[in-house]
Amino acid sequence: MESPKISSRTQVYGLIGDPVDHSISPIIQNAAFRKTGLDAVYVTFQVKSRNLRPAVTSVKTLGIRGFNVTIPHKIRIMRYCNTLDKEASDIGSVNTIVNRKGSLKGFNTDGRGALLSVGMERLRGSSVLLLGAGGAARAIAHTFAPEVRRISIVNRTISNAQQLKRALRRRYQCQVSSAPLTETKMKELVGDAELIVNASSMGMNGKNDPPIRRAWLNPSQTVLDIVYVPPTTTLLRSAERAGARRISGLEMLLNQGAISFKLWTGKRAPITEMRRALSQEILNHADS
Ligand code: NAP
Repeated sequence: MESPKISSRTQVYGLIGDPVDHSISPIIQNAAFRKTGLDAVYVTFQVKSRNLRPAVTSVKTLGIRGFNVTIPHKIRIMRYCNTLDKEASDIGSVNTIVNRKGSLKGFNTDGRGALLSVGMERLRGSSVLLLGAGGAARAIAHTFAPEVRRISIVNRTISNAQQLKRALRRRYQCQVSSAPLTETKMKELVGDAELIVNASSMGMNGKNDPPIRRAWLNPSQTVLDIVYVPPTTTLLRSAERAGARRISGLEMLLNQGAISFKLWTGKRAPITEMRRALSQEILNHADS
């Protein structure tokens, strides 16, 4: 694909995190800039925790227009934002920053990225089983809660699930419960769920797969696995064999990236082009 033409007018966007070298965001955001003809480029910045404050000062000094934030800065970055979007404030973490003339506004696009991937029609009024209570699970829970009938949170550390349950009960009308990650409980909750979301790190890099058996799944269910390394997880393969609808973490990654693009540029993201670039990148990796 043709390289972007960098000039003195090129606007810079980026990703701040540690590590950042395996991020797919530059692939999808630069594809979006090329397709829309915007004179802009997206690059990664590896920033150690101790350097977060000077990095934020540099963003303002250098006029970087916007950036994504990833591990380990998603929570601490909030203190350097001038304003926070309500959703980011409810969730308690930020993954997208818009820089308007030196004033930084923080957003969290993970929940809406998941919502776009599932679709409002499928989500509304549904019973959701949510695996995990970390940053991504919190984002998804807060975005889904106003729309669904019930959320059951299952997590390895039960106190984290209980904390999320209390936060959701304070704000939303839906039924919320929490449970430990045991086989008996999982079997019962999987059977009761219309939408199953793995928002934990289980299954990442092919390790510690979520304890969900294929026999517990059925064709009326939807399974979203937000883990995207590998692109097809064991959970998604089980869902496929059970005839359930599958949604991959790459789809969510794409959608949350598209929302960030819109926040930065005011333009609708060219999602087809972004998806094509992402698929090409995955194929290249499979070949190498
Ligand atoms: P996080 O804040 O560190 O939370 C990790 C969660 O996974 C916690 O609930 C943790 O449980 C649980 N967990 C970790 N290892 C486990 C194990 N061996 N067994 C059982 N539970 C385990 O991470 P995060 O930011 O939420 O990210 C979670 C996953 O989502 C990562 O794979 C990340 O790459 C992915 N993600 C994808 C997207 C996307 O767009 N597709 C966006 C964001 C994140 P405890 O509470 O017990 O520690």
